[in-house]
Amino acid sequence: MSITELDKQYIAHTYNRFPVEFTHGKGSVLYGTDGKEYIDLGSGIGVTSLGISPDGWINAVTEQIMKLQHTSNLYYTEPDALLAKTLCERTGYKKVFFSNSGAEANECAIKAARKYAAQTKNSEHYTIVTLNNSFHGRTLTTLAATGQPKFHENFQPLTPGFVHATAESIYELEAITAKYKVAAFMIECIQGEGGVVPLDPEYVHELFDFAKYHDILTIVDEVQTGNGRTGKLYSYMNYGLQPDIITTAKGLAGGLPIGATLLNEKLQDVFEYGDHGSTFGGNPVSCAAANYVMSQITDELMADVAKKGEIIKKELTGAPGIESVTGLGLMVGVKTTRPVSDVVKECLQNGVLCLTAAHGILRLLPALNIPEELLIKALGVIKDVCAKQ
Ligand SMILES: *Cc1c(COP(=O)(O)O)cnc(C)c1O
Repeated sequence: MSITELDKQYIAHTYNRFPVEFTHGKGSVLYGTDGKEYIDLGSGIGVTSLGISPDGWINAVTEQIMKLQHTSNLYYTEPDALLAKTLCERTGYKKVFFSNSGAEANECAIKAARKYAAQTKNSEHYTIVTLNNSFHGRTLTTLAATGQPKFHENFQPLTPGFVHATAESIYELEAITAKYKVAAFMIECIQGEGGVVPLDPEYVHELFDFAKYHDILTIVDEVQTGNGRTGKLYSYMNYGLQPDIITTAKGLAGGLPIGATLLNEKLQDVFEYGDHGSTFGGNPVSCAAANYVMSQITDELMADVAKKGEIIKKELTGAPGIESVTGLGLMVGVKTTRPVSDVVKECLQNGVLCLTAAHGILRLLPALNIPEELLIKALGVIKDVCAKQ
């Protein structure tokens, strides 16, 4: 049986995969069993942040795997301790909880917020307010947080205690806060799955001011926007704000599973022994990979991410068949005149991998270190495909 046949027979049908079987790659190029090469503008949905199997990352991972791969959280190991130190030092947060995915990082943030609110107010203050069109994960609790009804169908009842507000409306936050006892506001500064929609900085500042005034916690979901994606280490840094909690995952370890929840001084002691845990959380190999990724996210790389983001905007804005371009750094959304599913399919046929997002958006999340000439070549393919009638 072929790879595709095996997959179709034995893997649950949750993914509608494209007709390509990848075997290996290097940097921003992937190779398929069809003998073709593909320029990668998706990075495995913002995960392979330094490209496919970069040398330094291979060294960091293999060095760790030769020493030990897992001990459980009953014992101390170096890679997670060092990663937590780096994350805290580079952000100002005080404590980190490690998990294995974005959804788990958000679950931890929600638990922390609820416990904090219960301790400082009372246990009725459990409501978490998220935004319409948001995406926070696929577990039943993070689905409840996700403000897109299409993901909720067939899975009711979801975890109670979540209310969705329209983005850009402080009035709605006021109305919700008057009606419910709120523990936290949780947002993505740039909604990713929701169509690469950056929130207006003025709104985000008002939301933070409002939260501060009412002693409501702020959580920023940096699962997709984090780890250099927007040209800053975390997207909140573009807004000049400091959330109480941030969560991250996707690109942090450059392609190995990891999640992280960062807590500020208010929350650093909210968890006590036994409150939370994860068997694989802080896995030494994932953390060694993340330590390498963090070492590569320098001011120089961030300037490069910003510059390449500008190149994408300049190349695509106003091109035939392209209606608008949104996003920040190397997180870009493109509204195409042609149906986005056709655009992605034809880009694939022409050797370029792209993603989609809600509202028919073409989403680009290339590796942070994609070579400029490869990027420009791939943008040429996108422009040709979009210009077709
Ligand atoms: C992908 C994503 C998640 C979920 O991450 P998983 O690792 O798939 O659980 C949560 N929030 C945002 C903003 C995301 O983009």
